[in-house]
Amino acid sequence: MKTVDNYNFKGKKALVRVDFNVPLGSKYTITDDTRIRAAIPTINKIIADGGAVILMSHLGRPKDIPEEKYSLKHIVNHLSSLLNRPVLFANDCIGEDAKNGAKKLQSGEVLLLENLRFYKQETAGTESFAKELASLGDVYVNDAFGTAHRAHASTAVIAKFFPNDKVFGYVMANEIASINKVMNKAEKPFTAILGGAKVSGKILIIDKLMDKIDNLIIGGGMAYTFVKALGGKVGSSLVEDDKLDVALKVLKDAKEKGVAIYIPMDTVVADAFSNDANKKTVDIKTIPDGYMGLDIGPLTESEFEKTISNSKTILWNGPMGVFEMNNFEHGTKAVSDAIVAATKKGAYSLIGGGDSVAAINKYNLANEVSYVSTGGGALLEYIESGSLPGVKAVEN
Ligand code: AMP
Repeated sequence: MKTVDNYNFKGKKALVRVDFNVPLGSKYTITDDTRIRAAIPTINKIIADGGAVILMSHLGRPKDIPEEKYSLKHIVNHLSSLLNRPVLFANDCIGEDAKNGAKKLQSGEVLLLENLRFYKQETAGTESFAKELASLGDVYVNDAFGTAHRAHASTAVIAKFFPNDKVFGYVMANEIASINKVMNKAEKPFTAILGGAKVSGKILIIDKLMDKIDNLIIGGGMAYTFVKALGGKVGSSLVEDDKLDVALKVLKDAKEKGVAIYIPMDTVVADAFSNDANKKTVDIKTIPDGYMGLDIGPLTESEFEKTISNSKTILWNGPMGVFEMNNFEHGTKAVSDAIVAATKKGAYSLIGGGDSVAAINKYNLANEVSYVSTGGGALLEYIESGSLPGVKAVEN
């Protein structure tokens, strides 16, 4: 894998695709700057070598035209304070503004281009647009894992214009290494913990994992589809009635492949989808009518904890319940704690995919696990398909 560490940027203008798609609050304040912070080491390496940095990113989902609320100019001041140096801004990502800004750029300077998605050619992966972007720099660095599953102009197509000068930034390199560790070099026992809302979103990843894992823990909303498929009564819990056969197939495959499956035994149910609803703990196979399961119960927690504690490799995607509501977060918190404890005992733990990352952050445990992926969809697609367009483009 060729990374920024294998490249000397002295006297070069590095065109760096970053993921600055951060949430903005009122008055365009950045409410979570994790993605910006993640890119800082790559930028600093280029500057330390004596290079100049041209940053390109998307922000939000503009409708292919400039929109004030999606302008990357809102990022400039914060980025500048994180880098401890001025950040120049070009009002466009191609055209005269971008060209002039890039041309004048000196070693040690940083230029941020305006939102790539103000052009529909970005998501369309238009080659001429990618070529215009490419003309701004001498070397291409891809450090945007969050969009690496998209074959967009700046994430994949552009790489062909840098046949000998394309490398991964640290974010990409770390993500690839952690997935590789879990999918190709996992120490056993390997436990996958899957939760979240639906079976349908997880079926491909379950299929891919089945040949690699020893244990599959199932929690969250998707568990009720398994329970119903097995003949249980799930009340008004989230169920995908058209996926009952899929759930049974997962159970059959697991049996054939010697994978131990853990489905919740008890569940915390509520009489409404609300933090203030009346709640009680019941057997998951006999949920009363009018009640829905919103968390795993204490028996399940301790069974899951035991399995996690004995694991040497752990992959976690998806919460065990509606952890956003404090009354239904206990199971998710218990699983987070169990993963932290196993990590302390030497297990490798990878947390990835939107809501499990939000959960681990809610409990301030991100630094206590081995790796927290920065890309939700990208991580899942990487596991499902074995590579990503943004990875292939730099590797080939
Ligand atoms: P996903 O994006 O598929 O990982 O789903 C994450 C969402 O699933 C979170 O917003 C959780 O609140 C939700 N979730 C987890 N458990 C349940 C449940 N038992 N019933 C309804 N939603 C759930």
